Amino acid sequence: MKGIHGVISGKCMKKYKCSTLLSKVTGLCRHRLNKNQSKRHQIEKSARVSTVKTHQGKVEAFMKREDNSRTQPGKQDAQRLKKGVKVQTHVLTDYLTNLYNKFKSENPNLKISFTSFCRSRPKYILTAAFSSRSSCLCTKHQNASLTIKALRREGFDISMNPEKGMGQVPSSEIMKSKLGESVALSQWTRIEVEEKGKKKYVTKIVESQMSADKFVSHVKDQMSEFDAHVNRVRIQYEQIRTIKEKLPEHEMLIQLDFAENYSCKSLEEVQSAYFNQTSVTLHPMVVYYRSDDGTLQHKSFIIVSDEMAHRSSTVITFINEIMPMLKKIDSELQCIHYWSDSPTSQYRNKSIFDFVANHKAIHGMNARWNYFEAGHGKGPCDGLGGTCKRLADEAMRSGKTIIQDAKAFYEWAIQSSMTNVTFRFVSTEICAQTEKIQERLPLKSIKGTMKVHAAVGNGESTIKVRDVSCYCETCISGQTCDSWRMESTKVNIGNKRAVGGLKQNKEILIIPVSEPVATTGESEPIFEQSVTATGSEEHGGKEDSKVDSEIRFQVEEYVAAVYEGSWYIGKVTDTDENEHEGEVDFMESKKQFFQWPRSRDSIWLHQNVVLCKINVPVPTGKSRRMFRLSDGDKDKIFDLFSNFVR
Ligand SMILES: [Zn+2]
Ligand SMILES: [Zn+2]
Repeated sequence: MKGIHGVISGKCMKKYKCSTLLSKVTGLCRHRLNKNQSKRHQIEKSARVSTVKTHQGKVEAFMKREDNSRTQPGKQDAQRLKKGVKVQTHVLTDYLTNLYNKFKSENPNLKISFTSFCRSRPKYILTAAFSSRSSCLCTKHQNASLTIKALRREGFDISMNPEKGMGQVPSSEIMKSKLGESVALSQWTRIEVEEKGKKKYVTKIVESQMSADKFVSHVKDQMSEFDAHVNRVRIQYEQIRTIKEKLPEHEMLIQLDFAENYSCKSLEEVQSAYFNQTSVTLHPMVVYYRSDDGTLQHKSFIIVSDEMAHRSSTVITFINEIMPMLKKIDSELQCIHYWSDSPTSQYRNKSIFDFVANHKAIHGMNARWNYFEAGHGKGPCDGLGGTCKRLADEAMRSGKTIIQDAKAFYEWAIQSSMTNVTFRFVSTEICAQTEKIQERLPLKSIKGTMKVHAAVGNGESTIKVRDVSCYCETCISGQTCDSWRMESTKVNIGNKRAVGGLKQNKEILIIPVSEPVATTGESEPIFEQSVTATGSEEHGGKEDSKVDSEIRFQVEEYVAAVYEGSWYIGKVTDTDENEHEGEVDFMESKKQFFQWPRSRDSIWLHQNVVLCKINVPVPTGKSRRMFRLSDGDKDKIFDLFSNFVR
């Protein structure tokens, strides 16, 4: 009704004093007609404002979500909201039309137009510019969009949005019929460059001219690869959303990532200090858990360290550091779901897989490690790191503090305004200790590591892996559904070197070898490789001991020892002072012979897993690279081994 008043009345009507006439003709109330001051426009506007207002919070939360936008990591990437309030800027990872459709599918009952959706975007959330140099999108996405550009130059009308456009690429035949002899294509490529005599890899845009045939086959390969990439991106985000929504009680989800290093510089020496700036490693971790009332809570941690190597042992040290605090939050913690990016040097490698495999033995609860698809792993850690560095810079500029090294950064941080973040300092010495322990472990690389996007600890140095995460009902309940495949994280000497005696006695293969146990001191995690003890000496059970406890390790001598249920032979290369422990280089068994493996395979052993000392194996065959045991040694080993495991 109001609308009708608006349509027919307005300033003009008033000006010509027609309201009485109009009222008579239309039968509408004269007073109400008079009240209208060309309100038509305003009515619509106010209605629009209200939808924007009602849904703004929802849309903002949606756009801020890590699958839809990325926090800009730089300190300068902050927007002033109101006076004094700064927020890290976000960049949307997709076109607004796509995001709108996604939003609608997630909120089917919400009535919001595309325009209102766009208007609800806060200023600090920027739209993405595909294929621009400064774009934060991953190389796969950028390359896809560069290919689309090339196709469009050749006259194909396909969408600029790579996720749409790659699906619109015509068939090979059509492409070939339309393309000229050669096609120009730019792609981001990893190339080797020499800088100051050193070779290194950089990713650059490389433009090349290629034949139409080559171009077509490139596009076809890229299409399937890109399709798989986009799928994994989507699935991983769906999975983290699922587990966040359904996170069971006494379980935690941790998102972790290295922030860009913070470089210390005092104001006066910005220029001169440039070449030997001290850097600070910052490793944010955001921990999600269910509170007693069932709501999802989170706590933020930042590890500050002077350790510059960002490797897996560093990550493990950092996790060990916050573990006591996690147990304080929930003393009945049963499972931790880690979510990280997927660089192989830091998170996706054999050390982390082994850490996950033995997580329960080390820390007392199960673990699952999930990897975001490469290039799409930015989450809350990014913003946390960026905010922290920005505040540090502001404190420096205002002269409140001087940050010259990691320790000083930490000292500043704990009394800073970031009171909702728990800071911990981890020294490079502690990281070095973990690294040493890691080096000793006989770790095995897992086939297809680059494809693994989820790993679940399975105990006894085994994990189950998958190409994408799975949080189906079975998996959420703590079990693993059938889609996982099992892998072992330690060198499986059992298969490689086990010889005759073992094959006949498969049932005696299993002996309890407990996993490395962390004795968590206040801040120094020390791992102990606890070794199979048959008949413990503390209990005076020496009679039960099936191993000659008199055996002392001697460098250069050969021993037969039990490891993970099988026996092996090897040469002692090092011992501790008491000769109770020794480092043994293992040989591989090949049929009834032995040979040295291509790469050295050594491990520290305790004397109680040594069966006996043996004679130096005798070289045989033409090459003299195969060795055999004397008959006496063989019998001795078989006897002792069967006693050892019984
Ligand atoms: Zn991508
Ligand atoms: Zn499952």
